[in-house]
Amino acid sequence: MYGLGLGKGLLVTLRNALRRPSTVQYPEQRVNQHPRFRGEEFAWYEERCTGCASCAKYCPLGIIKIVTGPSGTALQDGDKYEVQTFDIDIGRCMFCGLCVEACPYDALFLGSGFERGTYQRRNLVLNVDTLRNAEKRPSTWFRPQLEEAGYNPHKGTPLPWIDAGRESWDWKGETSAGQRLFGKEKNGGDS
Ligand code: SF4
Ligand code: SF4
Repeated sequence: MYGLGLGKGLLVTLRNALRRPSTVQYPEQRVNQHPRFRGEEFAWYEERCTGCASCAKYCPLGIIKIVTGPSGTALQDGDKYEVQTFDIDIGRCMFCGLCVEACPYDALFLGSGFERGTYQRRNLVLNVDTLRNAEKRPSTWFRPQLEEAGYNPHKGTPLPWIDAGRESWDWKGETSAGQRLFGKEKNGGDS
């Protein structure tokens, strides 16, 4: 019948008009991000980084550039590398996370932010100073130690380098560093 279809259509409209919206009025409102959300700014812990450049080698797009030189410190151990250049071109990044997976020292994490809009592509290159000075709120993606500890980058305080890794740093005399999140000191977690 002619009017029946019309009524059915209006019913669909009415049903959807009464449903809770699944969109938000950005930027006034923001959706809650999952702790594993892969954000754009990267969290790099210089204290954990050896300058091995594995992250750069494994990036399929070749958008990480690392230049190191002798630091003149820890000469008895064979000298340490000083990271002089660490550029990540997030304008070309696809957030696959292979660089994070490749890092043997838990020094590189994906970030949790998503608001780095800019008018010029060159402003999307993160350099070593930006990475050094950034507030460290790493994504828990590919970081089971943070997930198990209930760390949430969107809540609480930024995560210091000593709490970021999987390994204990006992051998360096810094007791239970790298694993403190598992016990007494939960940083920014829900529980
Ligand atoms: S997330 Fe993927 S594309 Fe982006 S820098 Fe890392 S390896 Fe390269
Ligand atoms: S793979 Fe990790 S330790 Fe090696 S240069 Fe990259 S961030 Fe530093």
